[in-house]
Amino acid sequence: MMPHDPPARATAPGAAPRRFEWLLRDVRACVACPAMAHCHAIGPANGPLDARILVVAEAPGRLGGAVTGVPLTRDVAAQRFAAFLALAGIERGEVFVTNAVLCNPLDARGRNRPPTRGDCARCRPFLVRTLDLVRAPYVVTCGRVALDALRAISTHEADLPREAATAVPWRGRALVPMYHPGRQSTLHRPQGAQEQDWRRLGELLAQG
Ligand code: SF4
Repeated sequence: MMPHDPPARATAPGAAPRRFEWLLRDVRACVACPAMAHCHAIGPANGPLDARILVVAEAPGRLGGAVTGVPLTRDVAAQRFAAFLALAGIERGEVFVTNAVLCNPLDARGRNRPPTRGDCARCRPFLVRTLDLVRAPYVVTCGRVALDALRAISTHEADLPREAATAVPWRGRALVPMYHPGRQSTLHRPQGAQEQDWRRLGELLAQG
């Protein structure tokens, strides 16, 4: 069996935690991507496997998830994410948070860089396994990279500016595109509009 191959679907009690352990084992062994700090930011601290909301962001940041091993923690994007969750009335502990790419992409000067399509493709099997394990009815993407990563798994028509904070059917779940909490995203959608998006997300979840 290849490292990326999931074990046969199990149904016994406790199967999900075991399959999560298998996933973590395979992720930790993976150094498939070049130009990465191989921080492998996935583990029990990402959130509960039975979460109602699965958040998929971009990649661990050099000063955040790459240090803590937990996505959207410690850095500025994490602080903004926490503030947005509060606006939506969502507790971090009720959310499973992961990234399209589980390691920290770095440029030649050691700074964060956006993940390449190749990075996303190499990490896709791990995202597929995470989606299979965390059967959350709401999948919230943060940023275009995450939205594209889901499209590569199963096509959808969601467009970030058009469908921000709107539920789009996807594989029997509600896919809700949001902007990335990094400050740079305010170049594309002003802060006030993003805050309104997160309030709308909270309303959406309250209806469901
Ligand atoms: S980003 Fe994903 S595929 Fe690339 S080295 Fe890390 S775990 Fe492996």
